[in-house]
Amino acid sequence: TQAVRVVGGGLAGSEAAWQLARAGVPVLLDEMRPLRRTEAHQTDGLAELVCSNSFRSDDALNNAVGLLHEEMRQLGSLVMKIADLTKLPAGGALAVDRQAFSAGVEAAIRQEPLITLRRQEVMALPPASGGQVIIATGPLTGAELAADIARVGGQAHLAFFDAIAPIVLRETIDMDVAWMQSRYDKEGPGGGNADYINCPLDEATYQAFIAALLAGEKTDFKEWEKDTPYFEGCLPIEVMAGRGPDTLRFGPMKPVGLTDPRTGRRPHAVVQLRQDNALGSLFNMVGFQTKLRHGEQVRIFRMIPGLEQASFARLGGLHRNTFINSPLLLDAALRLKAMPHVRLAGQVTGVEGYVESAAVGLLAGRFAAAEALGQAIEAPPPETAHGALLAHLTGGADATTFQPMNVNFGLLPPPPPGTRKNERKQSQARLALERLHAWRQGCGLQALATPGNSA
Ligand code: FAD
Repeated sequence: TQAVRVVGGGLAGSEAAWQLARAGVPVLLDEMRPLRRTEAHQTDGLAELVCSNSFRSDDALNNAVGLLHEEMRQLGSLVMKIADLTKLPAGGALAVDRQAFSAGVEAAIRQEPLITLRRQEVMALPPASGGQVIIATGPLTGAELAADIARVGGQAHLAFFDAIAPIVLRETIDMDVAWMQSRYDKEGPGGGNADYINCPLDEATYQAFIAALLAGEKTDFKEWEKDTPYFEGCLPIEVMAGRGPDTLRFGPMKPVGLTDPRTGRRPHAVVQLRQDNALGSLFNMVGFQTKLRHGEQVRIFRMIPGLEQASFARLGGLHRNTFINSPLLLDAALRLKAMPHVRLAGQVTGVEGYVESAAVGLLAGRFAAAEALGQAIEAPPPETAHGALLAHLTGGADATTFQPMNVNFGLLPPPPPGTRKNERKQSQARLALERLHAWRQGCGLQALATPGNSA
């Protein structure tokens, strides 16, 4: 079997290499550190956690990232195996000893005879003659390689900064206050003239909201992030608010072309939300990228009429982050449409977070293994967290507004009608684990690692 080349020995690349090796496929794993460093990594180790040491909630039945943990365990994930071996007390969260975690992943990779680890920077997408490739170079992909990805995928479809607006679960928006309408009733992205959800603010509420934005606690840009271009185009909402009391009312909160059906008048200001996934379960707050701390976002955005009870599938952010427009550029098996011998995996595909990145690495590794072994590639069912994340990346998300995404229950099909509110997540999670089990039994890669396999 021809070796698969994996570029990047982070969370996604290490996991992809492991999955390939467990399927019996040789791997060449290229990691550029220590020859070339990134702005965030501090060590030479594989799978370095660049910031927090937490993999977030480990509750498989009530939290989508916990569900992803459990699915990964069942799929023989190296990242989860080592995380479980190096975990620290952290309540319901899965936190790890970062040094021990990275060392554990690296030791497993080094001990795996089918993986050859090479310390070298890859400057361009390797040609098809060399066989299959997985690019897992993360949010700080080397500049030359990033330029080549942009050349192949189109300059406009590779971002160097994310501008994440918060996403709200549709069912938690109070539609007795908010209403659906497109500005000037024009046809919107969904082809209808009422594609947006509008939340009205009167003058006093608007002023209180601006004051809260200005006073809210923010996170700082890192020194090296300040040099990255593309900045003016996606200013944080609180920075716009700081430019004058009416800046937002003439920007993302402008009320023109909108009529509140309850007053018959144009409101003083409006927050618009736009559908974010094909299922229609998620809506993003248009233009609301922000550096406010997460807790502050929840508090302040719930001041908006109609969002008092909002549940956020994702909170806003703004970071240095290299990622492609996956819904446009990738096929359903994570291959570049323009260069099908190349798969992408990890944060560069537009997922967000250690766990999500490793999960996409796991899928890319399994898909590449199936291809190398001449087996059919079968995607995980959309009811699973893996399947839902994959479907979002490769078609479910709106390509025109694509921004990085954490796993969340809004990506999974809704539970059956009539399911009690406090049982919805558990119902989705139970079905996910059931479907994952059936997929694992039937997907041709049964020989792959099972939970019992040692790392
Ligand atoms: P990485 O883990 O970054 O791995 C990519 C690897 O590819 C790196 O080892 C890099 O050296 C290598 N590489 C890059 N280019 C090349 C090349 N051309 N040739 C060879 N090798 C190359 N996520 C969280 O869940 N929690 C956090 O607290 C968090 N904080 C973050 C803070 C910062 C400053 C940044 C930048 C990101 C943060 N993230 C956080 C996101 C985090 O980086 C990702 O979730 C995760 O590391 C992505 O995994 P990955 O495998 O895609 O990329």
